Amino acid sequence: MEFVGKCVFEGIAIGRIAVFDKGDNQVKRVRITDTAAEVKRFEDAKEAAKAQLAALYEKALAEVGEENAAIMEIHQMMLDDLDYVETITGMIESDEVNAEFAVHATGESFAEIFASMDDDYMKARSADVRDISSRVIAILSGKNAGGIDSDEPVILVADDLAPSETVQLDKSKILGFVTRHGSSNSHTAILARTMNIPALIGIDYPADCNGKMAIVDGAKGTFIIDPPMSVIDEYHRKFEEQEEQKKLLLELKDKEDVTIDGRSIHLYANVGGVGDVPAVLDGGATGIGLFRSEFLYLESSTYPSEEQQFEAYKAVAEMMGDKKVVIRTLDIGADKQVDYFDLAKEENPAMGYRAIRICLTRPDVFKTQLRALYRASAYGNISIMFPMIISESEVIRIKEICEEVKSELSSEGKEFKECEIGIMIETPAAVMLAEELGRHVDFFSVGTNDLTQYTLAIDRQNAALDNIYDSHHPALLKMLQMIVDGGHKSGCWVGICGELGADTTLTEEFLRMGFDELSVSPSMILKVRKTIRSIDLSK
Ligand code: PEP
Ligand code: MG
Repeated sequence: MEFVGKCVFEGIAIGRIAVFDKGDNQVKRVRITDTAAEVKRFEDAKEAAKAQLAALYEKALAEVGEENAAIMEIHQMMLDDLDYVETITGMIESDEVNAEFAVHATGESFAEIFASMDDDYMKARSADVRDISSRVIAILSGKNAGGIDSDEPVILVADDLAPSETVQLDKSKILGFVTRHGSSNSHTAILARTMNIPALIGIDYPADCNGKMAIVDGAKGTFIIDPPMSVIDEYHRKFEEQEEQKKLLLELKDKEDVTIDGRSIHLYANVGGVGDVPAVLDGGATGIGLFRSEFLYLESSTYPSEEQQFEAYKAVAEMMGDKKVVIRTLDIGADKQVDYFDLAKEENPAMGYRAIRICLTRPDVFKTQLRALYRASAYGNISIMFPMIISESEVIRIKEICEEVKSELSSEGKEFKECEIGIMIETPAAVMLAEELGRHVDFFSVGTNDLTQYTLAIDRQNAALDNIYDSHHPALLKMLQMIVDGGHKSGCWVGICGELGADTTLTEEFLRMGFDELSVSPSMILKVRKTIRSIDLSK
């Protein structure tokens, strides 16, 4: 059975299918006669959940530091909370119900109690109790939390994946992504590229494919289910060739990003979290041009504290040494929804209350992040970048807040460095005002993903419009030149961090336009480097 879709990240994957379980399946109430056995089933699942959390704690400790890992310890303790455990076992015994139902009902009622409390800390525990209950239910129903029901790496198949779901997945268990919906410019597609995992969208896979053998062919955009042995053999050969090509590219890892005629450009990487930094270094990037800090918020069940953020930014800064690390402040809203922000549902979220608009109206959230960023700046080479800018007044206000943060840190005797300040150019307004905006900042980075959607009036999430979402549109190319010229006139360096930066059919044009930097997925660094090194601008 062969299905054709669209490739969002190239490559071949061969393995078994795991259909992603969103974890929102209805929990059924079932009458139980052997309640003692059911209580035992619950207790075993609870122990298994604690073991999973202990392993996750170790992993998080290594990747994101103690502060960020602490939540896994809190979840382990919550699973042993006497009230919680006794309510569940009491319900199994007195109501003669299955463990899944008792855990679900108890989790929901505890979550509601927490949510109604005045204290913010206690309120935030509401999401935690739901989280631990889902984990236990997943184990009881034979599924691993996070949706992958297998110890072997799998091809993950889903209707759609939200960024918050994608970030929670264990990357080492995923060979490929296949979704029915989703668009090539969605954040999930971007994450697949960052994770270096072949991904297809628009595949109308059959409902009963779980566990079957399959092949993802990124080059052709095909998904083959139950292939005959001869086809599997053929793809194993192609897979080996692909690995050979990757090895050849690795020879460029320590080479410079310079054209034949000697023009150099900075080639940096885009990342979603601390866990992606090894891929940046392995991929040969000379810096990080976009750290999407909102993933720290997406991975968390409550507002990440200053300390948690500080640890994460410091870890990245230290791992990168003196290499530049551009950290973008919180850019949530639109497709990146975070429950605890409690954002109102909007008719038009891409043009709604998002990114810097939230930060400028939530100084508590904004200042917490800026304090963490400035404190981490003492440990490396951090630049700070602000998303979704439309006016000079926003930049002036942002800089005032930065000054306030710095003077608070000074008076507290906390160390920080003066950081370069930059803005994303991703709205047509910012393009038109490039020269004026450039007078307030040190650099620009063009967010072509959003700039394309706002310029062409095409929702980047709308898969039905993917075929006309044309990032080579002449209007966009003209804008790119305007941005470079405006930025350079004001003394800024100018880069691209949208997905277009990795489009090697345009690399030469970007160099001719005068871009100083390109920031691309870690998996694309060497491919772009190869192209840069083959260009001769003197011709
Ligand atoms: C962009 O809009 O091009 C960009 C880099 O930001 P994001 O994709 O996170 O919106
Ligand atoms: Mg953007």
